[in-house]
Amino acid sequence: MTTDLRGNVVLVTGGGSGIGRATALAASAAGASVTVVDKSQDGIDETIALVTGAGGRAIAAPGDVSDEQTMAAAVERTIAELGRLDGLVTCAGIFVGDDLQPLAGVSLDTFMHVLAVNLVGTFLAIKHAVPHLERAEGAPHGSIVTIASTAAIRGHGYGSGYTASKGGVAALTRLTAVQYGPRGVRANCICPGGVDTPMSGGVWNTDEARARTRERVPLGKIADARDIADVATFLLSDAARHLTGQTIAVDGGTTVAG
Ligand code: NAD
Repeated sequence: MTTDLRGNVVLVTGGGSGIGRATALAASAAGASVTVVDKSQDGIDETIALVTGAGGRAIAAPGDVSDEQTMAAAVERTIAELGRLDGLVTCAGIFVGDDLQPLAGVSLDTFMHVLAVNLVGTFLAIKHAVPHLERAEGAPHGSIVTIASTAAIRGHGYGSGYTASKGGVAALTRLTAVQYGPRGVRANCICPGGVDTPMSGGVWNTDEARARTRERVPLGKIADARDIADVATFLLSDAARHLTGQTIAVDGGTTVAG
């Protein structure tokens, strides 16, 4: 079975950039209609223009994912305008520069802010989407795909707030799989390694930096957003119908290399 989302409706948080935008585009190319949630209206507008320019359908739900009203309204708008909800992909996330310091130097404000967006935002998205993702026995499952990071499965040596938030996202995904599996919902967590998006802030903007990173990746390539989006789209689809509760590193093999 190939990745086929025809007739599906998928809500993507952080859909205004990077992995979220690529996921909105990949899900749309597979046949889904998409709700794009982001705090950046410009980002949403650009994603919607790309989706509709390619013949797809997308609607906007601007706002901050750490605000419960935003997430409740995004789901409500999806049901009102697109009629149903089959999939959720939670890409909205931040990495804050202050979080690069050793833990003792990280302010409580920074730590809480990162947790609010990355972890609370994921909780709120699942909370408001999951009642609509429930399916009767025998029907194709509703599917949740969360985006954590390899920081959730190995020690990165920086980013206390980021690491704690991403570990929480992976754990919350497993809990969701167990709680909602019997109600017809699958939930899986993707842990990307380094991906060339605005979040990575141009760290690979020199040939030397790219070469150094490629050496650490068994597949010898720095990921682009599409590499993650294609796995997310597969996990949304019925081709992944017996796959749930998993934490999947999409990192070119970096976490399993010696
Ligand atoms: P990105 O910065 O390109 O996109 C993130 C999007 O989230 C942006 O459009 C931003 O406006 C939106 N966003 C941020 N805070 C928000 C909020 N409070 N409410 C609503 N929207 C908000 O980054 P990306 O690389 O595409 O990251 C997507 C996800 O992938 C993040 O969760 C990130 O932690 C994770 N990730 C990224 C990398 C990487 O190397 N880029 C690696 C591992 C994991």
